[in-house]
Amino acid sequence: MAGQAGCIVATIAFGMGIDKSDIRNVVHFDLPKSIENYSQEIGRAGRDGQPCDCLVLANRDSLNVLENFVYGDTPELSGIRCVLEELQGAAPDGQWEFLLGPLADQSNIRQLPLKTLLVQLELRGLIAPRYAYFAEYRFKLLLEPEALLTRFEGERRDFVAAIIHTSSRARTWATVNFDALYEQYGAERNRVVKALDYFQEKGWVELESKQMTEVYSVLADFDAPALSAELHAYFTRHERGEIARIHAMLDLFATEQCLGHRLARYFGDEQAPQRCGHCSVCHGQVAHLPAPPELPALVDKNFAVLCGTFIHRHQQHTGLEPSSELLTRFLGGISAPLFTKLKARAIPGFAALEDYPYAQVRAWVEGQLPG
Ligand SMILES: [Zn+2]
Repeated sequence: MAGQAGCIVATIAFGMGIDKSDIRNVVHFDLPKSIENYSQEIGRAGRDGQPCDCLVLANRDSLNVLENFVYGDTPELSGIRCVLEELQGAAPDGQWEFLLGPLADQSNIRQLPLKTLLVQLELRGLIAPRYAYFAEYRFKLLLEPEALLTRFEGERRDFVAAIIHTSSRARTWATVNFDALYEQYGAERNRVVKALDYFQEKGWVELESKQMTEVYSVLADFDAPALSAELHAYFTRHERGEIARIHAMLDLFATEQCLGHRLARYFGDEQAPQRCGHCSVCHGQVAHLPAPPELPALVDKNFAVLCGTFIHRHQQHTGLEPSSELLTRFLGGISAPLFTKLKARAIPGFAALEDYPYAQVRAWVEGQLPG
């Protein structure tokens, strides 16, 4: 911010919220994710109104990487079904409690799309978020227990003593036992958490909380197979839209029209001049994004060699054959909760076909599977 560094190399996340007025150059070392992202990223330049240059170093080599982010966020039909059945099974009393991480693992849906799925269920009036709480708290006393107790009197002192006595202690960390506190002392969870937060604020304990538990009300029953299919169609439409957005961005960079004009039009500004007079197109340079190098044909690849170990491990752990979608993600090196559990990254075939377009790999995989 003081202007002592001439150049900063960073991921896009770095610049968020940094408002420096005299940035003179923004260089994209690789493709942005979308026109919206691009527009926001170059928006950091020249806020003082002085000229600045924005340069994108682009080709189509990283197109797959961008597309794979999108494909990896589309839940499989079986994953959606798994979440819906979990919801139906766990909610006889109208309340659904779960931990996001384990549910993501169980359904093999990444946490972000899993949250989207929950929002979709909420929009359909099937569930409503109630509250969330940390399932587990543990603390490390930074002073002697007696020293902590002397800071309180009467009932509060008994309460603090109860927290200490009911917690199960390992060498340095003690895990809070909410059930015992409630049974023996009638202490509500809220009060205990408040007390722990206060201790931490005062520097008397170091506090750790883990495993956010989500609590939802279940408002209506539904037909799980039909709803799974409907939601899967929704995610597939969304996927198509995101892929189209990536291609709209590539089209923008390779356009023969003024870039400023195209960008303005994209955001609905019909008043923008036909020619800005300072972009590369206005200077007579239309960008041509080179195609990636030719790859060896997929028909020559050996499916059994690439996928055999993974298929075997998947069967061992789940008792099921992996779907073509999952195999495609494995070959494309796309992250999925299940891959972590199966330690799939360490299997040689992982990401073996990451340079190939996803749709091509999926078609090839489908051709290899029986039935
Ligand atoms: Zn222009």
